[in-house]
Amino acid sequence: MTIEAARRIPVMLPALGEEEALAAADAVRSGWVAQGPRVAAFEAAFAASVGAAHGVAVSSCTTALHLALVAVGVQPGDEVIVPSLSFIATANAVRYVGARPVFADVDITTGNVTVATLDAVRTPRTRAVIAVHQGGVPAEVSALRTAADRWGVSLIEDAACAAGSTVNGAPVGAGALLAAWSFHPRKLLTTGEGGMITTDDADWAVRLRRLREHGMNVSAADRHASAQPILEAYLETGYNYRMTDIQAAVGLVQLGKLGDIVAQRRRLAARYHELLADVPGAVAVRDPAHGRTNFQTFWVLLTDEFGVGRDETLAALAAAGVSARRGIMASHLEPAYAGVKPAPLPVTERITRDSLVLPLHHALTEDDQDHIVGTLRGLVRR
Ligand SMILES: *Cc1c(COP(=O)(O)O)cnc(C)c1O
Repeated sequence: MTIEAARRIPVMLPALGEEEALAAADAVRSGWVAQGPRVAAFEAAFAASVGAAHGVAVSSCTTALHLALVAVGVQPGDEVIVPSLSFIATANAVRYVGARPVFADVDITTGNVTVATLDAVRTPRTRAVIAVHQGGVPAEVSALRTAADRWGVSLIEDAACAAGSTVNGAPVGAGALLAAWSFHPRKLLTTGEGGMITTDDADWAVRLRRLREHGMNVSAADRHASAQPILEAYLETGYNYRMTDIQAAVGLVQLGKLGDIVAQRRRLAARYHELLADVPGAVAVRDPAHGRTNFQTFWVLLTDEFGVGRDETLAALAAAGVSARRGIMASHLEPAYAGVKPAPLPVTERITRDSLVLPLHHALTEDDQDHIVGTLRGLVRR
């Protein structure tokens, strides 16, 4: 085996350490492992970190999106506009409430929906929009919020990838009607699995807490803590979408590290930009004019100038021991959405066909980056 073949650079690694392991062990030793005090502490700390008044922890971003759609009152038969260029959960959540996902195109530089791409597919049946901060690149929320208000539709933000990103000088999530977050290991802050809904609306927070816990009017933790017997009532059909205290214990440690994680990713991304400057036709994601990305997904669009196809490029990287990935998926091209006939989505189709995701994580070294970009440079010059 050659040295090159022995080397493997993963595309992503969760930044987990001994501190997280100890925090999880503490939760186990406390005897309270289901949703309890650690979940409450994580909710408060996370909400404060994104500038929201309330945080409601749930089992994933997918379930967070489901509950957000219930909260804004999306009904069967309604239309909800989503970008096709997203992880498929964004569109799936719309189907959970019996509504119809309508796919909007995205901007070529940010990968995000814009007022124009939403307006192009809006109809009188549009009830809500889910805007994604794709790969951590903040969507231009001030314009989107103004347009949603004017159109009388609810704007939900899928911030699965955007912990630690900022928009107009504030954290992504600040001022959002409802923002949904993911703590899957592919994201920057992980609890194994997990999610959160943040909002400034106290009534919605109460309803979301109820919906995640079987529709109960009092949480199991509060009932347990009470000296007097409390008879709970089930006010509506709810779900079991709870996070555990073991997960929240890990999340609290991760949240404390998030600033450093983002700063390191931004340093590595800046170095990628320098190295890629002499690779013609490899256009890497950058900060948009209106904010700063956490570079959760470092994607590169290959233009004609690059001269080598995306799949061939992925194969060359794999042969050099580099786990790159295809770019962000397009939901409308998957069999699950074969029955949907969307309006033309030329930018979405171009990005998903011609882009790839390069490795970026806390253990990535400058040597790794030199090797990765060197492999790309070798392909173009061939
Ligand atoms: C990862 C992701 C999700 C799903 O998050 P889970 O926590 O795994 O359910 C939803 N939307 C986007 C944009 C994502 O990247």
